[in-house]
Amino acid sequence: MTSPSDAKPAAAPLLGAPAGAVVVTGGAGFVGSHLVEELLARGYRVHVVDDLSTGRRANLAAVREHPALELTVGSIADPDVAAAVVADAAMVFHLAGVVGVRLLAAEPLAVMQRNLDGTRALLEAAAAAAVPVLFTSSSEVYGDGPVPFRESATVRPGVTEGRRGGYACAKAMSEWLAFGHGEQDDLPVVVARLFNTVGPRQSGEHGMVLPRFVQQAVAGEPITVYGDGAQTRCFAHVREVARALLDLALAPGSRGRVFNVGAAVETTVHALAELVREVAGSSSRIARVPFDTVFPAGFVDPPRRVPSLDRLERAIGWAPSASLAAIVAELVDCARDAPLVALPR
Ligand code: UDP
Repeated sequence: MTSPSDAKPAAAPLLGAPAGAVVVTGGAGFVGSHLVEELLARGYRVHVVDDLSTGRRANLAAVREHPALELTVGSIADPDVAAAVVADAAMVFHLAGVVGVRLLAAEPLAVMQRNLDGTRALLEAAAAAAVPVLFTSSSEVYGDGPVPFRESATVRPGVTEGRRGGYACAKAMSEWLAFGHGEQDDLPVVVARLFNTVGPRQSGEHGMVLPRFVQQAVAGEPITVYGDGAQTRCFAHVREVARALLDLALAPGSRGRVFNVGAAVETTVHALAELVREVAGSSSRIARVPFDTVFPAGFVDPPRRVPSLDRLERAIGWAPSASLAAIVAELVDCARDAPLVALPR
């Protein structure tokens, strides 16, 4: 006996064999630059569009001279830029956005508006040109809900009097916009909700915990654990995340669906600080920093963040292999060679 879903032919993937340019918005950013390298390595022509607000040209240093790479410096919130970059594209990976809890705490309006404006303009241009889109959303949409977070769970951006939820809400709204175009314009869309992603080129300037801890340990400065350090996160290597994004675009049957992308090994922030100190051979002390001295009132730090990866495993056979200790070791090596950036408290 066949169910209705068995009877349907497998849905076409968003992306096929290399032909036409693959657009990566935010391609000079942390995750974007790794995705660009992965696409080039697999034979795709890549068109990066980035306004270089948090992205950096230096992130593309390894591929700058690659003949199959084109870079447009501009904002996809500008409808002319968005229309021009999608014009001859095979598909778009839409990664451009404003991230980082520090920016969110300091400039909530800019973070909400820029995320929404960029996604809206990009989706409208993509729909007009019938170019499929994979949109990278965020695990923030789950808020402080029960773990593990499943894609079918209700999103929980939080209360409107608290600042953090505005980012989560902008990301959730962007997902709805993407699926709205999917339904009304028959646009092939996939949503990937990224969990904590770490690796080379991530900056600690905007708050991200691991590059901050690594830099602090290498410099012999106190490692700043916010709150009691019992909050948990799961950390995936950015190269594996980039591969997962491309594999989702290539997978039949991913169209119209949301996928968590991340690692499932849960680590407390305190244990992370100890691991970094040990791997770096550092004598830094671990300093407890009260959360309310760093963030404004009403800024919620999710106590646990753990993805369910069942859906991703079924779609692409996802099995991340990078251990946290190996990632930390790689980052410690990078930090020893790199100039130090100023880290706000
Ligand atoms: N964190 C910390 N010390 C820092 C930076 C962050 O203890 O110097 C904590 C933060 O409060 C959160 C976790 O590390 O609980 C992860 O923070 P990050 O900003 O990297 O990502 P989030 O998961 O909060 O988006």
